[in-house]
Amino acid sequence: MTVFDRLDATHDPTVHSWLAAANESGCAFPIQNLPFGIFRRARSAEEFRGGVAIGDQIVDLAALAQADLFSGDAATAIRAGSRSSLNALMQLGPQFSGALRHALFAALKRGSGHESALKECLVAQADAAFSLPAQIGDYTDFYISIHHARAIGRQFRPDNPLLPNYQWIPIGYHGRSSSIGVSGQRFARPQGQKKAAGAGNPTVGPSERLDYELEMGIFIGTGNPQGTAIPLEDAENHIFGLCLLNDWSARDLQAWEYQPLGPFLAKNFATTISPWVVTLQALAPFRVPFSRPERDPQPLPYLESASNRRAGAIDIRLEAYIRTAKMQQRDEPAQRLSRTSLRHAYWTISQLVAHHTVNGCNLRPGDLLGSGTQSGPTAAEAGSLVELSQGGSEPLQVGSDETRTFLEDGDTVTFRAWCQRPGAVTIGFGEVSGSVLPAANPGSSTAPG
Ligand code: MN
Repeated sequence: MTVFDRLDATHDPTVHSWLAAANESGCAFPIQNLPFGIFRRARSAEEFRGGVAIGDQIVDLAALAQADLFSGDAATAIRAGSRSSLNALMQLGPQFSGALRHALFAALKRGSGHESALKECLVAQADAAFSLPAQIGDYTDFYISIHHARAIGRQFRPDNPLLPNYQWIPIGYHGRSSSIGVSGQRFARPQGQKKAAGAGNPTVGPSERLDYELEMGIFIGTGNPQGTAIPLEDAENHIFGLCLLNDWSARDLQAWEYQPLGPFLAKNFATTISPWVVTLQALAPFRVPFSRPERDPQPLPYLESASNRRAGAIDIRLEAYIRTAKMQQRDEPAQRLSRTSLRHAYWTISQLVAHHTVNGCNLRPGDLLGSGTQSGPTAAEAGSLVELSQGGSEPLQVGSDETRTFLEDGDTVTFRAWCQRPGAVTIGFGEVSGSVLPAANPGSSTAPG
């Protein structure tokens, strides 16, 4: 198997779960999804452990390991998944996570003989607190929306928006894993150096151009030994699954610091991801062809394959919402800022893995790749405020009587994602939310929140 687009019994749209909530229209987590996360009961001192979302519940993998219902690869995967991070399960590879998917699908479907045993292993999602899905060793953020790259490039370099390497290389930079948090993260507005256009010298202070970036995260499963490359055809065997990712960005810090080595303090103060990781197996029905405009350079051989052309891209619908402090006080709902799809990306997730390792760089289980901001072909599909507000020159109407160019203290940004197509059951990623707190006092070592 080269691209995970093969459908099997776990994608059968006619199968329902004995858990009624999993069958409701609009439910992100039907039996065809089964994403993984790390959780414990909220306000408890329990150990964090792996879980699988079904309807409004979580199958507790530690409890399932105790119940000892399964054997073989599925049992091995359950034991690995019952630990406090998913790294061990990720390392096992798709044979094991796939076996667990098939075992859970059979146990959760209507008429299963395991119904009463599984019910003993359920925890309500409403009662759960989440942790990061994995111990993230290394984090790399890519830049795979050409629409975003062109829009940002026009603002930062009006004479030269798209640099010549963009259409040849999946551009990326090494980010920082220490400040990645799970949905619900609250962080202080970053401070740093910025230099206004025309100003003689930079100043230091709180960012005045704080932004979000609408991205997907890609969790690496099985790693590769240092000195070896993962060929494009094998790349998906090394990808565990996808989550939502918000790459918070301080545009004023970024504009001053980014040349010549790329993003640094503008990006590494906070990154927020969703608690649920949707596996490549669950995404199989939503694969779409990868294509390039004929006038563009075509990928070099190590980034080119027939299966990547056939089904390398994924149609994941993405939405960004804002809710200001005032909207929260007035009990107004979050407002959608934009929507787009991962299908518009210039590179596929397989190409990211093949490129990242072409030099012999070793990826490890639980490493995280960010897709880069996902902006679609039209202006309304922009995945960041710096694009939506034209670099801060066109304020957006927000709620009943506010405007935004960039984020203000008390703002909460939420992303949602789902996949749908005729003939398949719609699956979701849930959501990722994060909130901006006022800048900490300079020199303060007290953690925010
Ligand atoms: Mn980014």
